[in-house]
Amino acid sequence: MVDPITHPVSQAMAGGSHGLLARAYFRIKPYLPLGVRWAVRRVRIPRIMKRNAGVWPIDESASGRPCDWNGWPGGKQFALVFTHDVESEQGLHKVKELAELEVKHGFRSSFNFIPEGSYNDPVELREWLETNGFEVGVHDLYHDGHLYESRESFSRKAKSINRYLGKWRAVGFRSGFMLRQLDWLHDLDVLYDTSTFDTDPFEPQPEGSHTIFPFHVKPPAGIKGPGYVELSYTLPQDSTLFLLLREKTTDIWKRKLDWIARNGGLALVNIHPDYVDFSRRQGANESYPSELLIEFMSYINSHYQGAFWNPLARDLASWFRDQSSQIAPTVPPADVSPSPPQS
Ligand SMILES: [Zn+2]
Repeated sequence: MVDPITHPVSQAMAGGSHGLLARAYFRIKPYLPLGVRWAVRRVRIPRIMKRNAGVWPIDESASGRPCDWNGWPGGKQFALVFTHDVESEQGLHKVKELAELEVKHGFRSSFNFIPEGSYNDPVELREWLETNGFEVGVHDLYHDGHLYESRESFSRKAKSINRYLGKWRAVGFRSGFMLRQLDWLHDLDVLYDTSTFDTDPFEPQPEGSHTIFPFHVKPPAGIKGPGYVELSYTLPQDSTLFLLLREKTTDIWKRKLDWIARNGGLALVNIHPDYVDFSRRQGANESYPSELLIEFMSYINSHYQGAFWNPLARDLASWFRDQSSQIAPTVPPADVSPSPPQS
């Protein structure tokens, strides 16, 4: 049995940090128009693609099953979890439409809100989501790229995040820009975190977890607490596919989903309501047509009906914690790709 905290994946991801370039970028980011932010990120695409051709979107080494893995509940072939980070007021207005689209296709998901970002606490919307079987989670605190600037400031911010977790009855967390210090997250009163990915060289901290299975993150020696479950996202984010890379189809999602299904892993995706265009405005700025989501959901149902488990993220984390508190992923050494800036 491998202890997760001494495992290479935990050390690499716990100690990783975003580079100087990314830090400088976060400082000037508030002054850059949205179009410029995407343009800045796109400059680095060819180099990132070339360096990561063998490990993105599929990192074959991420398919290794954890020790003592007994499979998903009900003998399902794979698990499928939808998550959403709501970045702006604009995204807030599209939450219900996206949730209703998922209901129509038989899915449920979690929506993560920024407690002190650019919009006010959406009290009624949170209640509506809970009433309709969705989960509410916490997304960062200010969403300014500075959450992990120092250990001391993180401890202070963690107290605020914990207040929101309690107020919102939430147990899940995701950092802005997928930044993370996994060993600091023990300050949070969470059941799970989902700020990591199996492979995503486009993020400011590009080290992947190299696993398509959940894993435990135990507290370091001397720190009390139960630890938490880490759920890496394993399908590329919608923003990466459709805005950064300007993909016009869901082919990459389908290919990755098929591969995860074959390997019996967890397909976890992050879709931002902010970027979904429900209005069918051709060429709408920095958005992609909702038809792509509809097409992908239909693909899942037509190819895998009855073969997958679609729990809320919190239910999957809770199940994983309860049934196997000791298991750890089987993973190779961490990726060391360069650090691109993030929009
Ligand atoms: Zn975000």
